[in-house]
Amino acid sequence: MTAPVDRPPSVDALARRLAETSSLPHPVLVDAARAAIADGGGLDEARAQARDIERSLLTPVVNATGVLLHTNLGRAPLAHSQSARAQTVEFDLASGERGSRQRAVGQLFARLCGAEDAIVVNNNAAAVLLVLAALAEGRDVAVSRGESVEIGGAFRVPEVMEQSGARLVDVGTTNRTRRSDYERAIVRPGNDVALVLKVHPSNYRVQGFVEETSVAELSTLDVPVVADIGSGLLDATVPWMPGAPPAWLAGEPAAVQTLADGADLVTFSGDKLLGGPQAGIIAGRHDLVQRCAKHPLARALRCGGLVLAALQDVALTYLHKTVCDDLAFWRMVSQSIDALRARADTIVAEAGVGTVVDTEALPGAGSAPGVTMPSVGVTVDGDRLAELRAFDPPIIARTRDDRTTLDLRSVDPTDDPAVIAALRYL
Ligand SMILES: *Cc1c(COP(=O)(O)O)cnc(C)c1O
Repeated sequence: MTAPVDRPPSVDALARRLAETSSLPHPVLVDAARAAIADGGGLDEARAQARDIERSLLTPVVNATGVLLHTNLGRAPLAHSQSARAQTVEFDLASGERGSRQRAVGQLFARLCGAEDAIVVNNNAAAVLLVLAALAEGRDVAVSRGESVEIGGAFRVPEVMEQSGARLVDVGTTNRTRRSDYERAIVRPGNDVALVLKVHPSNYRVQGFVEETSVAELSTLDVPVVADIGSGLLDATVPWMPGAPPAWLAGEPAAVQTLADGADLVTFSGDKLLGGPQAGIIAGRHDLVQRCAKHPLARALRCGGLVLAALQDVALTYLHKTVCDDLAFWRMVSQSIDALRARADTIVAEAGVGTVVDTEALPGAGSAPGVTMPSVGVTVDGDRLAELRAFDPPIIARTRDDRTTLDLRSVDPTDDPAVIAALRYL
């Protein structure tokens, strides 16, 4: 009897044993078995390997960190379903001819932003890159020294500028930049300023002797003003929420107001305060939006049908003003303290462990830096993070002063039974 060279019988037999306790596909279990044998291990080692592989897969989790838009947990959580049917991604139902994938969603976002036109791309970094490439390739872009920022991972204004083929012209100083500084950069002989880029320094705040030039002031310059507002707050008056805008939103730039103040374009993320899927939205003047749409990079940066459908749902939700019911992020935001406390009391009573505490939740994803919103959590003694992560569904919490806190504002109430079960099992 000859065994296949690349799969000794022991590997195959071990993989079949693994299938009794793991739902991973056979070829992956073979990899786990082979790795275990290579390490000189047996069934236990192979099970551990299979578990490691399972835990490396994308997994839904309960976010009990109190960071509502958690970058490592995919920012805005979003429920979306659609049928397996073909959809009119690039098809015009009226004429039966080829259509534009930007039209449906673009029109809805233009309506929401009070803009002439809008398109969507893969994320906000892509939106900024496309705007710079389409409107300023080979030319200069004026940016305040106070806004030449790095936002999360690899989004650094000077580097995005370099990739776009536009040249960065630094304006003003780190703490103060005036309209006259922009003006000087525009008229300076040798400069060829195509546009002014205003970047919202999303993830930090400069305090003290600071001055920035408003979009309204910038809009009186002779070149277009592009505002990267980042967060994706559509309207500072938050018309989809009952009552006055929440305090933690103060200072966040919003698309409607930024365009009304005179910005020629705004760009923002889909998965931050908008509460939608990962995407980047470019909204503003029709001619500028169309130059972006027609640039060759637009093809490389475009969204697929899944994201377009999800964005369309999000846009319709805003127009229906059912945001606080239908978008998970805004549902979390609009939970009252009393409702959170009632949930915490129930959880502690039913789990038989834990203490109800006041906490402070964060919008997250670099939105509203330094700002918190009141929240309620449940704490237990010690660092229990690893045990909570091992639960099914995994629960992601945080620790402080040797206590573990589960913040309930970022937990969907339908996950409270999972939280109770996890606390019981601790
Ligand atoms: C978050 C952010 C970006 C990057 O957006 P992504 O959607 O993550 O690509 C760019 N600019 C600003 C101001 C931001 O806040």
